[in-house]
Order: sequence, then C-alpha cells, then structure tokens
Amino acid sequence: MTAAERLEVCKRAAEIMAEHFDTFIDAIVVDLGKTPSQAKSEATASRERLELVREEVRKIFGEYLPGDWIPDANGKSGIVMREPVGTVAAIGPFNYPLFLSASKIIPAIAAGNTVVAKAPSDDPIALTLFVRAFEEAGLPRGVLNLVTGRGAQIGDLIASHPDVSMLSFTGSSKIGRRITELAGPKPLHLELGGNAAALVLADADLELAVSKTVNGAFKNAGQRCDAVSRVFVEEAIYADYVEQAVAEARGYTLGDPRADGVDVGPLISAGAVERVKALVDDAVEKGAQVLLGGDGNGSYFEPTVLADVPLEAGIVWEETFGPVLPIVSVRDLDAAIEAANRSRFGLDSCVFSSNFKQVWRAARALECGMVTVNDAPAHGVGHFPFGGRKPDSGIGREGLGYSIDECTALKTVVLPD
Ligand code: NAP
Repeated sequence: MTAAERLEVCKRAAEIMAEHFDTFIDAIVVDLGKTPSQAKSEATASRERLELVREEVRKIFGEYLPGDWIPDANGKSGIVMREPVGTVAAIGPFNYPLFLSASKIIPAIAAGNTVVAKAPSDDPIALTLFVRAFEEAGLPRGVLNLVTGRGAQIGDLIASHPDVSMLSFTGSSKIGRRITELAGPKPLHLELGGNAAALVLADADLELAVSKTVNGAFKNAGQRCDAVSRVFVEEAIYADYVEQAVAEARGYTLGDPRADGVDVGPLISAGAVERVKALVDDAVEKGAQVLLGGDGNGSYFEPTVLADVPLEAGIVWEETFGPVLPIVSVRDLDAAIEAANRSRFGLDSCVFSSNFKQVWRAARALECGMVTVNDAPAHGVGHFPFGGRKPDSGIGREGLGYSIDECTALKTVVLPD
C-alpha cells in the first residue's frame, strides 16, 4: 500500500472507533475497572492517535548530504532515508490496555511495517476491538495480527522469534530485561517501570502542589508508570503539606467504578492489592505513619496517605501501582534531588516551585526521561516525548514523531555526482 492509502485506513479505523466509542469505553471499564471518565480519556487518546498519525507519518523525512565538504566523499552525494523495519512485535501492559498497544500499532503500520500485537491477558477486549476496527477499515489480512495468551507461555517465543524485526514493549522492568536477553541484537523499544518523585519546595503554590500530587498518586488507582510514587517535601512546609494532602485525599471515593462519584476503582487483581499492602506494611514497620487508608479488601485498596516515610522503606524505591501517597521530609532541594536520583528508575519526576532558578536546577539535575514543572507527570497522547533514562525504565522514546523513528531503519544511499 502507498503511504497515502495506509493513512486512509487509519482514518477509516478512527471513524469506526468513533461509531462504536461507548463499546471501547465499556470494555476498559469492565475488563480493567477504570472509571468511565478514565476509560473515556484512554479511548479518546487512542482515537486521537489514529488521527494525529497523519501529521506524524509526514516526519519520515530523508536527508541529502553533499559530499564535497570532505575530500574522500568529494564527487558523491549521500541520501539517508527511513524504511520500515519489517515486522514489529508490539507487547503492551494491562494498565492502558488499549492506548499503549495502539500507540505502537499505529505508527508501525503508518510507517509501512507489519505487526504482531500481543494483548495483555488480564484485559484483552479493548485491543481486540481496535484490531477489528483496522480489519473493517480495509487493512489487508496479515498486516496486523493479534495474539492472545499468557506472556509467561508465549512471550518468550515472540521475543526470540527470528522473523520479528523489532520489539516494542511496554511493561515491567523484569519482563523488559528478559525480552532484552531473548531478542538478541535487534531494535528494541522498551517502556518500562517508573517511580516518579515529586519535589515540593518551600516556595511552591501549596494548594496546587497538593491537588496535583494527590491526583498524580490516585489517578487510575495509582496503576500508572507515571504515577507520583513519592513526594519529597521541604521541611519548612512539610507539616502544612501533610495536613492539606490528607484533607485532599479524603475527597477521593473508592468503589465500583461504574457508580456515580467514584474516583478510585479496583486494582487489576487481589494479588496486586496484597503487593501494595505489603509495601505499606513495610513502610509502617520502618516508622511511617498511616494518616489515611492503608488497607485493602479483595481487589480494592483504600486511597492511602503515608507520612514520615523513611528512606529505608521499600515503597520509596519500588513501583507501588496502587493509590498510595508516600510523603518524605527533606532538608532542601539538594537532598530531594539526591534522593530522587537514587532510584533505579528514571522515567518521570516533577517539581513544584515558583522560583525559576530552583526549577531549572531541578530540571537539569533530575535523572529521568521527563521532568514536569508545577504539575504531575502525565504522558497523555504523546505530544511530548517520554521514555526511560535508566535501564529499569527502558530505552527509546514514545511520542508522536518519535515513535515513527523507533520503528523505521535508516539506510544511506551513496550516489556519484
Ligand atoms: P508485565 O507483567 O511486564 O506485562 C506486560 C506485557 O508483557 C503483557 O502483555 C504480558 O502478557 C507480557 N509478558 C509477560 N511475560 C512475558 C514474556 N516472558 N515475554 C514477552 N511478553 C511477556 O507488566 P504489566 O503488569 O502488564 O504492566 C505494568 C508495568 O508496565 C509497570 O511496571 C509499569 O510501570 C509499566 N508501564 C510502563 C509504561 C511506560 O511508558 N514506561 C507505561 C505503562 C506501564 P500477559 O498479560 O499475558 O502476562
């Protein structure tokens, strides 16, 4: 197919998605337990991505290099062009079961690749519908292939298969490392774990910092790679921040996500609740105070605020993937940066301050792929590129034009003048 024809298919798939939009939302609510508004924003971002790809794909530029700048290239010209890599294996996580796989599939297809997508086993329905939309939109059979089945059983085969030209994976650091070992030397795009730090400085707009960090921790029940996972607050405003954060957190209602007024739905499984509970209990054993929540029931975990969390607590360093706001008191900006950077993850962080010098210093010093100022991290549709800076957070960049770069290969053609 020509590039223009591929874009027409994407446009038609977006129209089909729009016609069945509520079905996509229902699938995410029922399968994963997001609230309808959170599910709607995921479905909207996926549809937007199908529309934005029209601009994205136009970034498949080449480059013309005249040879006469260098004696040994004199008399020649070089053209550097981008070609599809071939077959892209797209493996996505459970927490954005539609958007994260869609944001691999769409650029891969627009750029002229074929795709083998593996659906997350806990919530495969929305992605299955999305692939069906492409089929209905006229994508030839065999271009986009959906595989279901437990990653533990079929993942190794996909990762090691010689016919897979490139692996685009979003998921845990543990599986990312396994895929890296199995794949061998081929292009890898890995979006892995995070434990975003929020730095709240003494000169911050406290009300803003409180509402953004609490929401950053509780949105999608905390099951986000860009969730605020630890808050480092300067001593001077620590007591005020804690008091206001507890009041703010009390406004979040836990329950069946389909019920009116519910902000925090269930976690993906009862096992996930046990894992979060173990992290909270460990923090308490080491001296943290539970100021709100702290317990789980079945698949539900209460919106939780932990204060006085010591740096020895595992929750400061691990991915929580639950609705927990751990608050740590720090002496000053330097101490906050030092603690933030001690993490094995380097995906996101954010800083709250009204002092430009402090903000700029933090932005320069934080070792992660994205620093957000006076707001919580949010990857959104990918207009701003995001990705990991340390091995446990992955390699490569996800984003509108950037994802195209990831699934294309450079070729240099040298021509005589
Ligand atoms: P996961 O357990 O690593 O699973 C991710 C995907 O990999 C699933 O489709 C899973 O299949 C599959 N898989 C499992 N074992 C595999 C293997 N041996 N080979 C190939 N694929 C395999 O992660 P998750 O629990 O679904 O998602 C949460 C994680 O994703 C968190 O660590 C989070 O930070 C990360 N995440 C990162 C980003 C980012 O942008 N950096 C965004 C969102 C999420 P099954 O479902 O069948 O097990």
